[in-house]
Amino acid sequence: MITNNKIPSAGGKYASLIGLGLLAIVLTSCADASSRTHPSRSSQSPSGPAVTHTASTAPSASHSPATPSPETKEPVVTEATLLAVGDIMVHMPQLPAYYDKGTDSYDLTSWFSQVRPILERGDWVVGNLETPIAGKDLKFTGFPRFNAPNELADAIRGAGIQLVSTANNHSLDRGVPGVQRTLATVRKAGLIPFGTSADAKEQSRNVIEERNGIRMGFLSYTYGTNGIPIPKGKEYAVNLIDRSAIKKDIAKLKKARADAVAVSLHFGVEYQRMPNAEQTSLAKELIGAGADLILGSHPHVVQPYEEISIPASESFDGSPRKGVVIYSLGNFISNQTGDWKDVGVIFGARLKKTVHTDGTVGLEWKEITTEPTWVHIVWKNKNRHYTVIPLATELKQRSFSALTAKDYEKMQTMYSGIRKHLRKLVAG
Ligand SMILES: [Zn+2]
Repeated sequence: MITNNKIPSAGGKYASLIGLGLLAIVLTSCADASSRTHPSRSSQSPSGPAVTHTASTAPSASHSPATPSPETKEPVVTEATLLAVGDIMVHMPQLPAYYDKGTDSYDLTSWFSQVRPILERGDWVVGNLETPIAGKDLKFTGFPRFNAPNELADAIRGAGIQLVSTANNHSLDRGVPGVQRTLATVRKAGLIPFGTSADAKEQSRNVIEERNGIRMGFLSYTYGTNGIPIPKGKEYAVNLIDRSAIKKDIAKLKKARADAVAVSLHFGVEYQRMPNAEQTSLAKELIGAGADLILGSHPHVVQPYEEISIPASESFDGSPRKGVVIYSLGNFISNQTGDWKDVGVIFGARLKKTVHTDGTVGLEWKEITTEPTWVHIVWKNKNRHYTVIPLATELKQRSFSALTAKDYEKMQTMYSGIRKHLRKLVAG
């Protein structure tokens, strides 16, 4: 059942507490999320007070988030869904099929043709951009030092992704100039980057995005940068995992009136299917410090999700808290195959905000959804062609003509396996 946490704040009329009463898994994707909006392309200001972007006026079932007037006896309830995907990677075999000699450009949009209808339904849609997009003059390369064409940014945005976490072990693959160019390019494409910064002032920006009256703050950190040192005096370029710094950043977003905070963490051990003690302890500590959602990446395979409850004694504000963690979202698009490296997940979490008649605010995670994905690779005209397949949806629809009977058989096995794996840490 759904718990409704409502606490009057000591200092003001605004108090929020995340409660998670229901962890229902909707296996056939997130299609049932009640609120549907199509946020306009937006970008945040480089620094200073948060700029929020209210969703456009597309028809929506949600209510006005305004504080109820004294004569209103009903609390105001609104909901919004966050969708997250894992590593967006470009290995060199991914490119030749999509190159047009005539225009000297790439068109990567078809990678995401099958997942776009799902991603477009999210109110916030987040991905981990695990490659610089730093320009052709710095040469396009894959492992171990990545650099992808600008068209990747357009393809990601076209797929429905709105925000990209850019703090990961490949952030510095083209140095600090690569970080700066990547930020400019993704912004030009209409994406909102978080986790890396072009200068010190920009590092202090608050990334808060409002959907349906719910203000979600976004933070991102990485365990390291593959041994590439962050130049002295340019520590702003990439956010590194530092428990006390993250806690300060969470508090800062709350002060800037974020209702909830999502933290992307690039951590864990590559190809490990279960989180290690470091991941679980960090997630717990950050939820205690006020994070509401942890979006893990780096292992290149999916790790399970779980709900974490924090007792009042370990919570930053003395109230019991509940948060949601997915330890690794896996690869969303890459050339990696085998041992679950070609399987990812579109992870969904629906947040409900209730503004009570006395002005207090209750927040709760209402529903978790998972749509496992698979990177389908097929040889055609001497090149490899890639499509991210939403497994549950496609197993039901059977509408993508590039898939064979054998593919569907494989997909069914993968789907059953990953579905079970995702729920390994959830009771029941
Ligand atoms: Zn990584």
